[in-house]
Amino acid sequence: MLTTKSKSDTLDQVATASIPELKALLDSSDTHLEHELQVRAEAIAEQQFGRRIYLRGLIEISNICRNDCYYCGIRSGNERVTRYRLTADEVMSACERGYEIGFRTFVLQGGEDPYWRGERLVSLVRNIRTSYPECAITLSLGEMEYAEYEALFRAGANRYLLRHETYDKEHYQSLHPSAMAQEHRLQALRDLKQIGYQVGTGVMIGSPGQTTAHLAQDLDFIRRLQPAMIGVGPFIPHEDTPLGTYPAGSLSMTLRFLALCRLLNPRALIPATTAVATLHPEGRLAAIRSGCNVVMPNLSPLNHRADYALYNNKAYSGSEAAEGVALLQAQLDTIDYQIDWGRGDAPAS
Ligand code: SF4
Repeated sequence: MLTTKSKSDTLDQVATASIPELKALLDSSDTHLEHELQVRAEAIAEQQFGRRIYLRGLIEISNICRNDCYYCGIRSGNERVTRYRLTADEVMSACERGYEIGFRTFVLQGGEDPYWRGERLVSLVRNIRTSYPECAITLSLGEMEYAEYEALFRAGANRYLLRHETYDKEHYQSLHPSAMAQEHRLQALRDLKQIGYQVGTGVMIGSPGQTTAHLAQDLDFIRRLQPAMIGVGPFIPHEDTPLGTYPAGSLSMTLRFLALCRLLNPRALIPATTAVATLHPEGRLAAIRSGCNVVMPNLSPLNHRADYALYNNKAYSGSEAAEGVALLQAQLDTIDYQIDWGRGDAPAS
């Protein structure tokens, strides 16, 4: 076990810390060390981005998914979901509304819906690109093959979010049905990078069966991948899933992990996620004070927001909503941060 002094030394050299040293930082019950970690992470984020928060307009294009991940409220096996998919016109209207509010990044997120694939999806991306040439288009639509990712990139998509969820193979398999292979997801991340996307990955904190040894491996994987974006939120159970009775992940471990992500990846775009804001009323601001620099308000049509419930009580109104940007700015004022309306690409290395 590391002493407090040696843990402080590790903080100085966290970029090259070994996996056991990362695990020791995650395991530490030293609250002073935890505070120091967050202070350092926020200072690095400020050095890179100033006290500014980029906004992304999140459009949830479909809650239909062919997969059956054991933790997810919109998994194919959940018959209690009211399913929807947006039309191309509805997506374009959401972009228009978002552009008027000031958003310069649109994030199209959804389940792996066979309808929103192939030429139909390429054509949607091309329309957004033509209508909003200066905006970034981020996709978060799950696993595809190289040629599909490439066609979407050529049509104008810039960024792709695909959380690896856990680097440990056994743990991955305990969260996903056998039809889903971790290697396919890792290959997808490599493909996206090779094609030229700004790639995002990430994990849930506190998912059933997860240990700090797993999380230390995740940190090491993220350090090696050097993604442009890192999405991290606590596991929050959804009652209609096989993992619905497990407890939620902790805010403290989520913040610690986020701070370590910032120390290991100074230039990454790291959102203070809706899940962390759902877990705790102060979660969003605490995540920003731990090195996050992005918020993704919901731009989806109001009548469908409640149906995109990945976990119980997911927040989608107030400062979580595109309409609530003034409220979000008021919250940011309390910690002396400003919204940045720029498109917010990851700084070049
Ligand atoms: S986590 Fe993603 S891939 Fe898995 S069931 Fe939910 S929407 Fe589908």
